[in-house]
Amino acid sequence: MYSRDYLNKSYLLVFLLIAFCGFVATFNLYQQEKSGVAYEQGVVADRFASSLLIALNSYAIEVASIVALFHSAENDDISHQQFARFGQVLLNQNSNPILNMYFAKLIREDELSDFLLDQQQIPNNEKVTIFPEGKRPSYLPLTYGFPDVIQHGVDLISDELPYKQSVILAQESREIVMTPPLILTKDKVNGQKERDAFTLHHAVFNDQDEFIGVVGIAFKIGGLLDQIDLFSDMNFSYRFADVTGLADGEEPDWFYDTGKHALSSLTSSKMHSNQFEFAGRVWLVESCSNENPYALIQWERLISLMLTYLVLAILMGFFTYKLCRAYNASLDNVEYLLSTDELTQLKSRHAINSQVSQQVILAGDHSKFAVLLLDLDHFKAINDVFGYLIGDQLLVKVSNRLVSALPENAQIGRVGGDEFLIILPLDSTLERESIRELAQNIIDQVSKSYLVDERILTVGCSVGIATYPEFGEDAPTLMKNVDMAMHRAKTLGRSTHHFYDTEMGGRLIRNVLVETRLRLAMKNNQLQLYFQPKVDLQTLRCVGLEALLRWDDDELGTVSPSEFIPIAEHSGIILPLGEWVIEQVCIHIAQWSEKGEFIPPIAINCSAAQLKRADFLSRLVGFIDQYNIDTSYIEIEVTESILIDDAEGCAELLSEVSRLGMKISLDDFGTGYSSLSYLKDLPFDSVKIDQVFIRDILENEKHAALVRGIIQMSHSFGLHVVSEGVTSESQLALLKEYGCDVGQGYLFGKAHHPDLVASKIEQ
Ligand code: C2E
Ligand code: MG
Ligand code: MG
Repeated sequence: MYSRDYLNKSYLLVFLLIAFCGFVATFNLYQQEKSGVAYEQGVVADRFASSLLIALNSYAIEVASIVALFHSAENDDISHQQFARFGQVLLNQNSNPILNMYFAKLIREDELSDFLLDQQQIPNNEKVTIFPEGKRPSYLPLTYGFPDVIQHGVDLISDELPYKQSVILAQESREIVMTPPLILTKDKVNGQKERDAFTLHHAVFNDQDEFIGVVGIAFKIGGLLDQIDLFSDMNFSYRFADVTGLADGEEPDWFYDTGKHALSSLTSSKMHSNQFEFAGRVWLVESCSNENPYALIQWERLISLMLTYLVLAILMGFFTYKLCRAYNASLDNVEYLLSTDELTQLKSRHAINSQVSQQVILAGDHSKFAVLLLDLDHFKAINDVFGYLIGDQLLVKVSNRLVSALPENAQIGRVGGDEFLIILPLDSTLERESIRELAQNIIDQVSKSYLVDERILTVGCSVGIATYPEFGEDAPTLMKNVDMAMHRAKTLGRSTHHFYDTEMGGRLIRNVLVETRLRLAMKNNQLQLYFQPKVDLQTLRCVGLEALLRWDDDELGTVSPSEFIPIAEHSGIILPLGEWVIEQVCIHIAQWSEKGEFIPPIAINCSAAQLKRADFLSRLVGFIDQYNIDTSYIEIEVTESILIDDAEGCAELLSEVSRLGMKISLDDFGTGYSSLSYLKDLPFDSVKIDQVFIRDILENEKHAALVRGIIQMSHSFGLHVVSEGVTSESQLALLKEYGCDVGQGYLFGKAHHPDLVASKIEQ
């Protein structure tokens, strides 16, 4: 039931599973998109930093070209005009927006007045003086500049100005050295406060490798950034700073372009950072895109992926739903077929059996119920005689009657061809007597005649009953016991019911024991054949003998054939046992005839199972030939049960037996099927009336009438009649009066040991 529930919801599971996969795939794609955007922004940041470095390098190249100018000049001496001309050319060739380029010459104290005189020759420079003033052993005053906006005479190695350190480093390292951000002296004079300028210095040495001064250029951040205008149309923010020698945690002095960002929103954690070294300084560049990263994600890709999965989920969910519906429908159908008997529409064997298990659980300790197993008597004969179609129609009618005969709370199912199982819940008032009444009512109803296909048919039934919990606390035990009770009802003469009781269980144990011991007895040759005379009622002469098995077991004592023959028949032991009996009979006949003793025909009891064997006749004839017996000495006794399974085959066999010269009697007549019709069609020589009718023939008028009727009818078919179980003279007299031909019973003698037969017959 639970699994059905899960199955019914499986379409939801399929839908959710695929939708979940879609979600995961879309999320992954989203992550990829996001990292793609981040990567692109990283590339832009790297490009910005390298552009900045390239721009700085272009200044360095200009410095290098000024140095080259000095090296190319004779005595490394350059005039103001030469410098201006060179500057002009350089600025025309390069678009670098530099502020100016200059040369500061090393002047010793004694050269100072000459230097100042030289400087005064430069136009508009008449008032030149050393700045800051003061006597120092040497000076590095600005000497030439282009454009000539420099303040001539500014001493770069003065302690008071910010150039000293980079100039000294340039001299020592002989490389280009950049100053930290600074306010140019000129700007200082003009009152500008922002440190937004840098100067690059390179030392100049003469041919004798003597330091003669430095060349430098000055540029402003704004000019530097103008060179990187490729970023101007980008929505992009950046900041950078000279972080040379900056201690950990110390905030750098940033140059900003915040784009659309507020200053406060720029934090290092959100920005791409690049660091590079240039001209002895370390610069840190941080940048970020102002674009909304989510706007850069290709949402349509994500949405189409998710939609594809959703459509797939809906389709698969729908198909699973349809599939489940179809599966459920066929499951319902199979369940119906499994639970319903096709012919009678009652519960099937499977359904009613599981109902018994259910009932056991339901009843528990507090309530009771009974199971009734009903088997139709000799139903096979109806099938054989009238065909399966009629048999089926009869079964349907029987089941209808059964249903109407049962109380409403009872459940019924067909468990075999002609077997029905009934579950009858019991309330405290419904006691054994009520069940008995119900069972009898069922038998009465079922046994009434039926009109099937214009034929009137009757069928009896036997009912076994077992009650829960007394005679079975679980379904298998109940089923086993009710089956046993039903078979007991059958052996009790059919058309009756029988309650399972503990004694039956005991009998089962006994049966197992008997079967085991019987196999042993056969192996050890412990069985005996005795012979009971059959007497002509008129002359009282012995006209036949019946061979009867006798068994004295060491453990079980004397066991009656009435007990062990049915067990032998059930277990199949009857086949070797029956063959042994036939051989023993042949041996005795041979021995007696050898001795010249009188031998009447000897009757051998043959069970249905023996006759069903295809080789029965050939083996019988085999023994007859082996011991050289005349077939007229042999008589075969069969009961009506042989006709039930295969009436046609049986008729053929009996005709063959008769044709070979053996007599055939119908044993125990009156107890079984008791249909007289076959008596005239089959080659019987005599009919043996069962002893139950003879036993009380004097007191029971019905039995007397029955015996008389059988005798008359048998005679009309030309059959001899043998009465079994004649024990008194009065019975003998009455049978004689009725015209019975032969008698068998204790009045004439019990079954005798083979050694005593001859003497007993003579008496
Ligand atoms: P059955 O063939 O009807 O044999 C007659 C039974 O009635 C025998 O019982 C016999 O001893 C008993 N009987 C005869 N006269 C009297 C009497 O006056 N009073 C009473 N109360 N009983 C009498 P038994 O020997 O116990 O055999 C019982 C059944 O066992 C036989 O019934 C027969 O069906 C079966 N049986 C015996 N021997 C064989 C055998 O060799 N093969 C087969 N297949 N069945 C056998
Ligand atoms: Mg017999
Ligand atoms: Mg008999």
